Amino acid sequence: MAEIIVIGGGLAGSEAAWRASKMGVKVTLFEMKPKKFSPAHKTEGLAELVCSNSLRSDAEENASGLLKREMALLDSIVIAAAEKTRVPAGSALAVDRVRFSEFITEKLSSDPNIEIINEEITKLDFSVPTVVATGPLTSEGLTDEIMTLTGDDGLFFYDAISPIIHTESINMDLGFRGSRYGKGGDDYINLPMDKDTYYSFIREIKRADEVTPHSFEDKKIFEGCLPIEVMVRRGDDTLSFGPMKPVGLEDPKTGKRAFAVVQLRQENFEGTLYNIVGFQTRLKQKEQDRVFRMIPGLENAEFARYGSVHRNTFIQSPRLLFPTLELKRRPGLFISGQLVGVEGYVESAMMGILAGINASLVALNEGPKVPPRNTAMGSLVTYITDKKSKEFQPMNINFGLFPSPPPGVRKKDRRRFMVNSAMKEMEIWAKKTSLNNYLTPPK
Ligand SMILES: Cc1cc2nc3c(=O)[nH]c(=O)nc-3n(C[C@H](O)[C@H](O)[C@H](O)COP(=O)(O)OP(=O)(O)OC[C@H]3O[C@@H](n4cnc5c(N)ncnc54)[C@H](O)[C@@H]3O)c2cc1C
Repeated sequence: MAEIIVIGGGLAGSEAAWRASKMGVKVTLFEMKPKKFSPAHKTEGLAELVCSNSLRSDAEENASGLLKREMALLDSIVIAAAEKTRVPAGSALAVDRVRFSEFITEKLSSDPNIEIINEEITKLDFSVPTVVATGPLTSEGLTDEIMTLTGDDGLFFYDAISPIIHTESINMDLGFRGSRYGKGGDDYINLPMDKDTYYSFIREIKRADEVTPHSFEDKKIFEGCLPIEVMVRRGDDTLSFGPMKPVGLEDPKTGKRAFAVVQLRQENFEGTLYNIVGFQTRLKQKEQDRVFRMIPGLENAEFARYGSVHRNTFIQSPRLLFPTLELKRRPGLFISGQLVGVEGYVESAMMGILAGINASLVALNEGPKVPPRNTAMGSLVTYITDKKSKEFQPMNINFGLFPSPPPGVRKKDRRRFMVNSAMKEMEIWAKKTSLNNYLTPPK
């Protein structure tokens, strides 16, 4: 019987094991709990939700809602568990976390194709296709092994994310395109600020509330990539001599250099998303809404992703992974979950499904598959394996990652169009790749 190994029984590992079993493949699932716990995991069960009990929006025309519908189509154990254990939370899909984990633990433990072994794995030398799904807090021993495979510069321990904005929500009447000293043509969007606005902005950053770091998060590590609020605490002018320095940027409307300039850099190939350069931050999300909308041109900014800085293990996927999640340097080794540079419970679980499908296909002597570009799954994979990505940082699902609809589609119909075409393509893909021959709905 075809066989695979899955390492890590979190959200991604549980999905990968479930998927493989439904494809008739035997799975050995290694989970280090309860012998060893990461600093955030506290319970013995599989698929532990370490923080919030919300899997975010379930709304139909929301990117996270679409991701869940695609997962349900692919027979996701996480979505089945969430439906069974859901608690009222408006348009969000929130769960009773204990029952959620119990449901998945019970399904996987009683599955005749799955054997669960509670052991920490520190070597990746299995002779059968293997899925690594050990998450943002991968144990130290295995981290060293992954680093041997990826190289020192292939694995990161913290993310430092600047807010990412939907391009269409930026008011370009107040901005101009250009690069410092003209080097790089029109690559950046520049939003000039006068002196009064700058100092009001600095005052509000100082007043804004920050997220409290977890006890296991080392503050020293941020020296090389300081959150803006830390820079501001070092002096009111630090930003205007740092990420907001106006030198080399003349505003074509006034012919003058502004007091300070906020620069935005293109985030994705399609140019539907831009990040605010150097604005990695630990400010609370509602404070980012309030303070960053003071930037002229961002009054109505729609955030695709808020800034953050936290402990997170992830690899340089654009360089290291095929869009099948197979490691280029090690055929048969698939990386999944948050380790590939997606962010969030459902995104990680979705990467578990893809790794589970592809490791199983390899075990069944078939080629691994790439999901269609215009699905939520395909959009995430395209983002993480986009070789043009210069400063790769983790991302959660949002419509900015999807291909733009054709020009004829009206603005108000764009999301519906994206949802419909994604669901249609996902159904075709599941059929074309014969996944439906293997799939059976969870009981
Ligand atoms: C503190 C913290 C809070 C978070 N809060 C949220 C939130 O509120 N909402 C959200 O959407 N996302 C949150 N995340 C992100 C969240 O962790 C991921 O989205 C998701 O859990 C990742 O899924 P995963 O399967 O990749 O990893 P995990 O769910 O973390 O699963 C990894 C599993 O691998 C096991 N493991 C690790 N090393 C080994 C080893 N060497 N051998 C065997 N087993 C091993 C671990 O015990 C664990 O069970 C948070 C992350 C952290 C660290």
